[in-house]
Amino acid sequence: MKVYKFGGASVRNADGVRNLHKIIAGEENLFIVVSAMGKTTNALEQVFTGLQRGDRALSEEQIAALRDYHAGIIEDLWHGPKRLERVDELFAELERVATQTVYRAEDAELWYDAIVAYGELLSTTIVSEYLNAAGVANHWVDMRRCFRTEMRHKDAAIDIVASAPLLRAELAGRPERVFIGQGFIGGAPDGTTATLGREGSDYSAAVAANILDAESMSVWKDVDGVLNADPKIFPDAVQIAELNYLDAIELAYSGAQIIHPRTIKPLQNKNISLYVRPFGDKRKPGTVIRAMSAPVDVPILILKKDQVLLTIRSRDFSFVLEERFATIFSLFERFRLKTNLIHNSAVNLSLCVDNSWHIDEAVNALRANGFDVMKTGDMELLTIRGYTDELWRRYAKGPQVFIRQSTQATVRVVRKR
Ligand code: ASP
Ligand code: MG
Repeated sequence: MKVYKFGGASVRNADGVRNLHKIIAGEENLFIVVSAMGKTTNALEQVFTGLQRGDRALSEEQIAALRDYHAGIIEDLWHGPKRLERVDELFAELERVATQTVYRAEDAELWYDAIVAYGELLSTTIVSEYLNAAGVANHWVDMRRCFRTEMRHKDAAIDIVASAPLLRAELAGRPERVFIGQGFIGGAPDGTTATLGREGSDYSAAVAANILDAESMSVWKDVDGVLNADPKIFPDAVQIAELNYLDAIELAYSGAQIIHPRTIKPLQNKNISLYVRPFGDKRKPGTVIRAMSAPVDVPILILKKDQVLLTIRSRDFSFVLEERFATIFSLFERFRLKTNLIHNSAVNLSLCVDNSWHIDEAVNALRANGFDVMKTGDMELLTIRGYTDELWRRYAKGPQVFIRQSTQATVRVVRKR
């Protein structure tokens, strides 16, 4: 079995779906993981915002646009007027959830997941029906029933041990040799839909690869492979031919948009190679990520945007902040803050965290626990692995730099945007 993952950009229009068909042509024993088409997840987040704010018009407007967008792709694929019953049903369900839910703020994550999951349900339905029509017999897999997650919404981890028998049973004894499942979604223990965090489809594919003992996993992307920097931010980016698992995890954690940070562990546990390959040209080698690799010989620059710097101090000036670390981090856990960098002194603890929904609640809770907290927004975190003097001069200095941490090979800078 091989696992192929197609991201939203790869299936953003009918040409993309036709290209997917071309890539898988002739393959057997394939598990395909597909993300939501194009910017669908962003639009669904707006549908959720409508529910959250009681702005029904916003939700309806976004759903109408998504209906048109998907209908356009379907008509293009079938070369004329065509409706897919299952797609109509999914939109009817989505509309019910978005407009008839009795919303409570405590359940924000639950309803977020119930809504945004439709992107992948729609994309996989369309791809599956199109491939069937094109003669590629395949089985549509409902990942809400095959991936059991932890009891958490919006950013859930998959329980691989509990999921393995479910996914294997779904595939066992089926006549088809091609399977199509949604990225990004699973089912929580209470039966509700859970999502795995934005860009989580890579993680879905990696867990499927782990459970199915895949010979390899390939992510088909709109770039030639993994680059040493985001070319939109740093010109002169070059491709990296191979990376080992550890480097890949470091890069993903630092904010490289290559793969979801949780992707590597399920692959590493079963020693499965991950290929990042260009969607446009099957012959190009792409980048391979595996246990052993040649050393990377170019500096790697990763910019993580939308960061907030929290500087925390004990109000009684207690010099041993360590004693209070447990309180601080348990609040972070409770309000689901993601810490990307930690810097401490005798009385201060500075943390660079992702900007997120519950940040102000966390700050209030810290204050209620006897801390002074300073919050600085509009920050970004730059990580340079294998920095040179020139890169140091260009990026690690200057008045906009708030914190700089360096080791022999890596420098990390928290700076004002
Ligand atoms: N559709 C989801 C997102 O856009 C998951 C993914 O693309 O991997 O975040
Ligand atoms: Mg996506």
